[in-house]
Parts: sequence; C-alpha cells; structure tokens
Amino acid sequence: MAAVLADVDDLLAEVAEAPMWSLSDGTLPEVLVAAGTALARLQGLLVRLVGEVDSRELATRLGASNTAALARERLAMTPAEASELTAVARATRRDMTATGQALAAGRIGYRQAAVIVRAITSLPDEAGPDVRTRAEEHLIAEAARFDAAELTRLGRHILEVVAPEALERIEGARLARDEHRAAQRRGFTMIDDGHGLHWLRGRLTTGTAAVLHAALDPLAAPMAATEGGRDLRTPAQRRADALIELARRMLTSDRLPDHGGQRPQLVVTVPLRTLTDGLGHATLDDGGILSAAAARLLACDCHVIPAVLGTTGQVLDLGRANRLFTGALRRALNLRDRGCAFPGCQRPPAWCDGHHIVSWAVGGTTSLDNGVLLCGHHHSVVHGDNWAVRLAADGIPEFIPPAWIDPQRTPRRNSRHRPPDP
Ligand SMILES: [Zn+2]
Ligand SMILES: [Zn+2]
Repeated sequence: MAAVLADVDDLLAEVAEAPMWSLSDGTLPEVLVAAGTALARLQGLLVRLVGEVDSRELATRLGASNTAALARERLAMTPAEASELTAVARATRRDMTATGQALAAGRIGYRQAAVIVRAITSLPDEAGPDVRTRAEEHLIAEAARFDAAELTRLGRHILEVVAPEALERIEGARLARDEHRAAQRRGFTMIDDGHGLHWLRGRLTTGTAAVLHAALDPLAAPMAATEGGRDLRTPAQRRADALIELARRMLTSDRLPDHGGQRPQLVVTVPLRTLTDGLGHATLDDGGILSAAAARLLACDCHVIPAVLGTTGQVLDLGRANRLFTGALRRALNLRDRGCAFPGCQRPPAWCDGHHIVSWAVGGTTSLDNGVLLCGHHHSVVHGDNWAVRLAADGIPEFIPPAWIDPQRTPRRNSRHRPPDP
C-alpha cells in the first residue's frame, strides 16, 4: 500500500505542473469529476487507515493521548476535524461498513460520509439494528443526489422516512428513557446561610414542576399592595411568598399525615418578655433564631405552638386555650372583614390569619372585638412596620399608617371587599 501511494504521489506530481489550458471545454468537466472521485477514494483510504490505527491503539504507543490527537498532530488538523475523522473511522469500521465501502469506492464524499455517520449514531437506542441499516442505506443512496448540507436535513428526519410505523414507539421510548434519567436527578435541598436566609436549591422533572406551577401560580399573582398601589414585590418574592402560603394552607388544613404520632406543627420557644416587650429572641425547634417581631407574628394565629417561657425558664400555659380564631369565631370574622382588612388588599378570607389587635400574651382576648383578618403579607406588615390597627366605632377595622407614610397618621380602611357607604 505504501508503494501504491508512492506511485500515486509520483503520478500526481507529474500532473501538478501540467498546463490547464491543454484541457478542452469538453474534457474539463470530466477531469473535474474524476479528480473529485480520486479525492473521495483517498479520503476513504485515510478513514480506513485511521480506523486501523485506532483499533491497534497505536496512538498511545506513539505517545499521543488518543487517535484524534495523533491525527491532529500528523495531519495538521483542527481538534474538531480530527475528532470527526476518528468518529467516522470508528463507525465505518464497526457497524457502518456500507458507508465505509461507499466512501472507499468514491461513491460518496468524505463530508457526506461524516453527515451519514452523525445521523445514524445520533438515532435513539430504541431504533434497532434493522432500522439503522435501512436509514444508512437510504442516506447513502440519497448522497448521489444531495450534498452534505441537504443530507444533514434529511438525516434529522430519517426515521420518518425509513420507519414511519416505528416513529411513535421510538420517540415514546426515548421520551420515557429521558424522563427516567431526569427523575433520577430530582432533588431539593435547603441550606441555612447563617445570615437569616435559607437557600432552596433543587431540580424537578417537567411533570412535577408543572404540578408545583399549577399550585403556586394562583398564589403568586400580583395583588394591589396598598391603597391604589400596585404590588411592589418582585416576581421572585411573589413566588417565595406563594410557596410559604401553600405550606401555611396545608398546615392549617388537617390534611397532612402525622409526624411522629403528632400533627405536623411548628413549635416556637419564646420568653414571655419577647412577646410582651419585643425584647430578646425566640427559638424554633430546629434551632433557628427568630426576632421578637417574627416570634410575635408566628405566635399570633398561625398554627404554631408557642412554648412561652416565664422569667425562670418554666413553660407557661399562657394562651394555649382559645388562642386561634376558629369555628364560629372565624366565620364571624370572615363575614365582617370579607378578606384581608388591610387598605387596598384584595385577598379573600382563605389567604388570611386572624390577628390579635391586643396580643394574647398581654391579655388580649381571642374575640371578634380583638380580631382582624390579615393575609400573610399584611400580617407581617402590621407586626413589623409600625402600622397600628383598631376597630372603629362602627366595628370595622381601620389602620393607622406610620408617620413616615402619612405625617397626619389619618386612619385608612379597606374599601375593596364592601361597597362604599351611601
Ligand atoms: Zn398578628
Ligand atoms: Zn392583605
């Protein structure tokens, strides 16, 4: 083979200097095609040689890291060219011998062979050897009419052409396999960053993410935040609020399974002083630390069990009984406030907690006269932002803004749940 190639080289050297003008108009196109065929044959030979180098694992014995690296080095190829050549060499040596033979015979060009190899190797595993053979033969036949670019487009839809009856089955099997792989990678972690935030990181499959979207999207919709205002929360903040709202609703719904023989519930251990004076901090049962304001919010009417500690650390029974707005009392509150009572808020009762106007920790009762419906967001506003709330003479809740919002501190009402007074 070395001698033949040496002869070929000598012969080509002879014509390399031959004058082109000596070719007539009639013979020029024939010579053009003949040169193309010779080139294809030589490239076919190159592919077979690389395949042989690869099967003997010669590259590593010659100090190259692999066959593609050797081709890059000896044939002055780019990494992409070398790895494509190696892929074509391997495929035509093993399964795609028909493509290898067509290339060696000069019936198809090297670029076309590379396209056919890529089309066949990227078929899903579910396309069996029979379908692969048919697809390969079809593409080789079409290579007589189509160039590499057209062949690439044809290759993308090759299953529709050669195995239309199996297409649905193959696509279905591929989808199922992809989904199975994706499901194995599902996961979710919550990591305390030590600075008051938890990182939520995770992956959900397409199907399960759709379930979460369906539940979160209605809860994450923008709402008017204050009188005449728009929702100032970012979309990410709204999604975070929606996730907590979802959890809050489940915790209050009695629909969660028992956890260690008890109803799932959050216990917050809080010194009485923290509830009454807003001093100190509270502790969650997982060790998390909460500010006084956050502790008072949780202890108000969320189904959180406050373990209230006295001055010497003994657990007081304070507020255990009748601390929650439930049953007939809650229905009365729903009827009166018809939703979150905060000015401008549109949220209906299902979104709301009952807030104690005077905290139960300092003797406030759980009654209609001491309660007001607030959505989770406005409940935290009222506990944190110096808004005051009281019942007006007509029994309707009104909110007194902090001086930095309204220096006159004129009381405001929510007019969205009830028609304006005549
Ligand atoms: Zn409250
Ligand atoms: Zn609200």
